Amino acid sequence: FVHPFQSLMDGIRRQETLQGTIQIAGEERHDEFGRLARAIRQMSERWVRSMPVGLFLLDAAGRFAFANPLMMAQFDCKNLEELNVRAADPPGGLFADQSAQKRFQAGLKDETELTVFEAEMRGASGPFWADIRLRRVLNQDGTVNWEGVLLDIQEKKEQERHLRQEAITDALTNLPNRKNFQCVMEEETARADRYGGAPALLMFDLDHFKQVNDQHGHDRGDEVLVAVADTARHSVRKTDHLFRWGGEEFAVLMPEGSPESASFVAEKIRRNLEAIVHPGVGTVTASFGVAVRHVGESESDWFRRVDQSLYLAKRRGRNRIVCAEDGQGTPAERQTLIHLFWQDRLACGHPLIDAQHRELFLLANNVSDAVFHQTAAEDIGTRFNRLCEHFSLHMQDEERSLQE
Ligand code: GH3
Ligand code: MG
Ligand code: MG
Repeated sequence: FVHPFQSLMDGIRRQETLQGTIQIAGEERHDEFGRLARAIRQMSERWVRSMPVGLFLLDAAGRFAFANPLMMAQFDCKNLEELNVRAADPPGGLFADQSAQKRFQAGLKDETELTVFEAEMRGASGPFWADIRLRRVLNQDGTVNWEGVLLDIQEKKEQERHLRQEAITDALTNLPNRKNFQCVMEEETARADRYGGAPALLMFDLDHFKQVNDQHGHDRGDEVLVAVADTARHSVRKTDHLFRWGGEEFAVLMPEGSPESASFVAEKIRRNLEAIVHPGVGTVTASFGVAVRHVGESESDWFRRVDQSLYLAKRRGRNRIVCAEDGQGTPAERQTLIHLFWQDRLACGHPLIDAQHRELFLLANNVSDAVFHQTAAEDIGTRFNRLCEHFSLHMQDEERSLQE
């Protein structure tokens, strides 16, 4: 009685310590012990076979000593030998990349009892993400092996990715949203700090958009926002990042820019927006603020300059661009901003005074034109002196005519 029982126990232990495949000593016997041995084998086989996860055992050298059918199927291997060959296959073995394989191997050296990690595997039908758990087993004879579970989590990973994408995308326009903006902004400023370079930021806000909603309804407003997003998307380069900042405000982050190039992009968007006729609504314009980041400038300071420029663009009459770098705005804006237009309602009826007033406008425009077109300082000086002389003469004439 004792002898066959002992050999059955030995068989179970040998199997546990990976010294044999699933085969319990004594199975060949025709007595109760044989039946017991076969029952134990079948029971353990059923367990590993019916488990809806990959199960495996690794020996002290990290080689597969056992793998259940699901595990084999996941890597399209017929037997352990094939699995071990696949596991040694460069570059990453069963792993989609080498770094994951290294992490796995480091886990085998680790003395912690339970190692858990996620890795992308090179599966039979393409790569898939897996959750791997390794339990370190110290045998009675002092050897070590590992019991492992491999769970296919590809679907979960895809859902996660989808959710993450959804969290950083604006549902209406499909543009990256403000949360995404924050991440990209941090990346770009870090990159600029490390490698130099000056990123540019542009923000635009639709003009009088509340009226669009009030007059045509919120749904029409939404349609306009979608069209605006599409137009802006086609107006920027692939390397530029376009975001819906919120409401009817959008942002473009350009990894590398000068005030001129950023204003150029802004002008392109502005013109393209102005050109669309929204069905039932008409045209919608936008005002732009632009600023190129100063070396080492904080995100909030940079952003404030953009915001102030945008505010200025609104104040100066909307549908225009203000670049923080040249406080005066873009050339197109400067002319309308600084140019003085004579109007008949300014006439006082005194021929001399009216003529002199007109002359003042003309001379003042001469000076501003020279300043804004950056002509030579001498030329500006000459024009300015002429304005001053005329001003002085005019004041004397005006005083006299008032006394008269
Ligand atoms: P301003 O030229 O000064 O920017 O005028 P505005 O009317 O555009 O400015 P304001 O900030 O007062 O109004 C913004 C409006 O944008 C308010 C809101 O009705 C509208 N808006 C914001 N988000 C959405 C949106 O998702 N859909 C629609 N349809 N309208 C929106
Ligand atoms: Mg707004
Ligand atoms: Mg607005």
